[in-house]
Amino acid sequence: MTTVRARSPRSLPTPVGLTAEWYSHCARGELRFQRCGTCGAWRHPPRHLCPACGDEGWSWDPSSGRGTLFSWTVTHQALHPGFADALPYAVLVVELEEGVRVVAGLRGIEPGDLRLGLPVEVEIERVSDTIGLLYFRRRPA
Ligand SMILES: [Zn+2]
Repeated sequence: MTTVRARSPRSLPTPVGLTAEWYSHCARGELRFQRCGTCGAWRHPPRHLCPACGDEGWSWDPSSGRGTLFSWTVTHQALHPGFADALPYAVLVVELEEGVRVVAGLRGIEPGDLRLGLPVEVEIERVSDTIGLLYFRRRPA
């Protein structure tokens, strides 16, 4: 599930608080999401209270890393020079088996081959000691 690559020249997120905790799990190659200790609801992005029951108790539980393509957009113009060599590239919204949705990059599939509901699995790229970025690949049936 984890791939370690050289540092990217692209700008990186500078998260704080719970979001920094989430990225640090990713930096260790672990895809985890908050799960309510009372009702069991998964949630993302990170927040202090459960949106389902309002409880404050939760844990970082491991995700299967498997999901389906919920939506995407294809970028044809680089707004940051670090992305110029990747054009055109897709930005995905993937719905994980746990029910949460994440924004991520695409690997191993041409943007023109994307379709709604495509089965995908996560690949995490560690870009620093505190940041891991999510990419998804087609999942074998
Ligand atoms: Zn809850």
